[in-house]
Amino acid sequence: MTDKWDCSMLWLIPMPDGRPGEFFSWKELTSSATASRLGMDNTPSNEQKVNLKALCSMVLDPLRRHLGKPVRVTSGFRTEALNKAIKGSKTSAHRYGLAADIKVTGLDAHALMEAVMLTDIPFDQAIAYAPGRGGHLHIGLSTAHNRKQTLWAPKGGGYEKYDFSK
Ligand SMILES: [Zn+2]
Repeated sequence: MTDKWDCSMLWLIPMPDGRPGEFFSWKELTSSATASRLGMDNTPSNEQKVNLKALCSMVLDPLRRHLGKPVRVTSGFRTEALNKAIKGSKTSAHRYGLAADIKVTGLDAHALMEAVMLTDIPFDQAIAYAPGRGGHLHIGLSTAHNRKQTLWAPKGGGYEKYDFSK
């Protein structure tokens, strides 16, 4: 079980060229249209960079390998200021570099949620967003206990327990 990080220290192995992950660049994980527009600096601290590396090696890289096609990060790291600017959740794991919103061509949020569940990728929270709310899958990791909580974010707002029977 890769519930705790100490069980899997693979993320400590540096990637070639200093990349955060095999398939992901710092730019992909930190760029934000809102930050650029507002002239905000969205550079992660060293601690947040370590978290982003863990997110890549434990979640994003394995998912990319499982799917066999590109995983696009629509929102990765957010400073507190950026998170506020985009009205992100106050407790958002994006602020720690521990969450990514992802999209994959040809797969909707439901298909992505199901793909994640077919793997043994650890995650704290996975949220499938309705098309009207971005249509992405949010996937977040915890440094303590990964609950594997799955939620659905319906068009009208709020969050519901994800229903896999649908
Ligand atoms: Zn998110």
